[in-house]
Amino acid sequence: MKWSHDAEAAVAKVPFFVRKRVKQRVEEEAVRCGASTVTMGHVETCRNRFLNKMEDEVKGYRVEACFGSSGCPNRAVADDELLQQLETLAASKRLREFLVSRIDGKLKLHHEFQIVLADCPNACSRPQIADIGLIGACMPAVTDIACSRCGACVDACRESAIALDEAAEHPEIDVTKCLSCGKCCAACPTGTLARGAQGYRVQVGGKLGRHPQLGRELPGIFSREDVLRLTDSAIDFYTSETIQGERFGEVLNTAGYEKFRNFLKNRGLLI
Ligand code: SF4
Ligand code: SF4
Ligand code: SF4
Repeated sequence: MKWSHDAEAAVAKVPFFVRKRVKQRVEEEAVRCGASTVTMGHVETCRNRFLNKMEDEVKGYRVEACFGSSGCPNRAVADDELLQQLETLAASKRLREFLVSRIDGKLKLHHEFQIVLADCPNACSRPQIADIGLIGACMPAVTDIACSRCGACVDACRESAIALDEAAEHPEIDVTKCLSCGKCCAACPTGTLARGAQGYRVQVGGKLGRHPQLGRELPGIFSREDVLRLTDSAIDFYTSETIQGERFGEVLNTAGYEKFRNFLKNRGLLI
């Protein structure tokens, strides 16, 4: 949908963590009015609604993604169904009702449980500061196909994680440096490097606020099915441990990260 310059400028001033949602609501307002261009009038209507009825805008969770599905060439994994499945799962957990029962005072947007998906390690959608951050991952696998020593994989790797030793027949991947972006696999003309394990890296407990912290990464790369099971379990852990609707990161700090890991192990999600 087209936006007038002043409407676009006004929404650009909205704090980043709610901007996407505000933009969506303003467009919905324009559609409701039968307009083909978003104007300041639509922005003002939504602004008044947000100011007067902020609590009604809080749905208890937020599921967001990067712009990978709009055709970004960097996607390490291209799964167009996961986002909707996460939304359906989060909605089924009735988090708004839960938060209303735990929070003393008005429900605010920052109380929402945040699930953020990025389709590659560039992490444009900032999964590192979400309650659950998902990062698309594709591990390179070295096959038996002869390497031409063209060096394309080395050039493609921004982490300097690939070594082409004179004496070795195949490239060596330093897994401690590799971010699973999959770029080297795409660059390899012979198939010596192929796409290996694909899925999502998972980080938990990231947040901003007065005591910011980055999410801690769980070991491994998770399939879509395991991401959904893990998200379901993380919300169960959150609702069983939180006292006043604190952010997941605070809950993990208080309960102990190990307790959460054991919770996941008991559900067969971690080894
Ligand atoms: S996170 Fe990666 S896939 Fe998503 S928009 Fe950014 S660069 Fe593209
Ligand atoms: S997957 Fe990405 S980070 Fe890992 S070796 Fe290949 S190019 Fe480097
Ligand atoms: S891109 Fe492929 S063929 Fe070229 S050096 Fe790397 S592994 Fe060998």
